[in-house]
Amino acid sequence: MRLVRFDGDRIGAILGDLTDFAGVQPGAWPPIGMVSFIARYCDDIQAIETAAMDAPRRPLGAVRLECPVDWPNKLIAYPANYDAHTAEHRRSQHGLISTYTAAGQGFFLKANSSLSGPSDPIILPPVPDRKVHHECELAIIIDRGGRSISRDDALSHIFGYSCLVDVVIRGKEERVMRKSFDTFCPLGPWIVTADEIADPTSLELELTVNGEVRQRTNTRDLKVDIPGMIEMASSVMTLYPGDIIATGTPEGVGPIRVGDRLVSDVAGIGKLELDIVAGHEGNHSVWDKTSKHASQPL
Ligand code: MN
Repeated sequence: MRLVRFDGDRIGAILGDLTDFAGVQPGAWPPIGMVSFIARYCDDIQAIETAAMDAPRRPLGAVRLECPVDWPNKLIAYPANYDAHTAEHRRSQHGLISTYTAAGQGFFLKANSSLSGPSDPIILPPVPDRKVHHECELAIIIDRGGRSISRDDALSHIFGYSCLVDVVIRGKEERVMRKSFDTFCPLGPWIVTADEIADPTSLELELTVNGEVRQRTNTRDLKVDIPGMIEMASSVMTLYPGDIIATGTPEGVGPIRVGDRLVSDVAGIGKLELDIVAGHEGNHSVWDKTSKHASQPL
């Protein structure tokens, strides 16, 4: 089942409108409708499917798709989680951080407010001397969550999957700041529920910019695997329904510029097709460094 948010916090299963079934008030703030919906129905997907069969039908082309989980409790992200990207990072650092991997380093958080949806552009801040890079990633959406989830139980805590782009200004400033501009975390176009993904350990990922393939990988090459990421994150903090885990990026990270068209595709899950546009907010003296001093790529 493919679950979407659309037209101002409405909820749907393609293409049935489940807003009334979900008990969501479109336009209410904060926009927690999908988080509440996941919490309520994560153990009863069949109830959603049954409701979807009777739901009012909406043509996909007639709605505006939004970030499927807009107000999670946490947006967790793993760095350096594919061998090739780690090697790429190491080369750019001239070997200075040769042991930097997700297995040894753990995870970080991005601001939840960096999330944007499949219909939104990535808005670049006016920092022309700085490199803004794309990272193509599989996103995990947590179901009922919990603390200290074991590897063996981890897959049963996944509500679904989505496609995510982790956008970052390369540099030495605090990572959470470099990765947390508004629109620096496109997610979507929908959540594919976990029951439809037979094997999350063999998903093909591909990211192109203006038609040029920049990143291509398979989740079988993850260093900390999906159960391992849930085990590690939940060892530190309680995972809540709708929490998002960005699982890390393969080699091929590269710059995006105003006017580019980025397509990020997780086979069997979905594709984000995003325009890169110029923003007028985000300039600050903290970014006023030349890129040669800003070499930390993660
Ligand atoms: Mn990343």
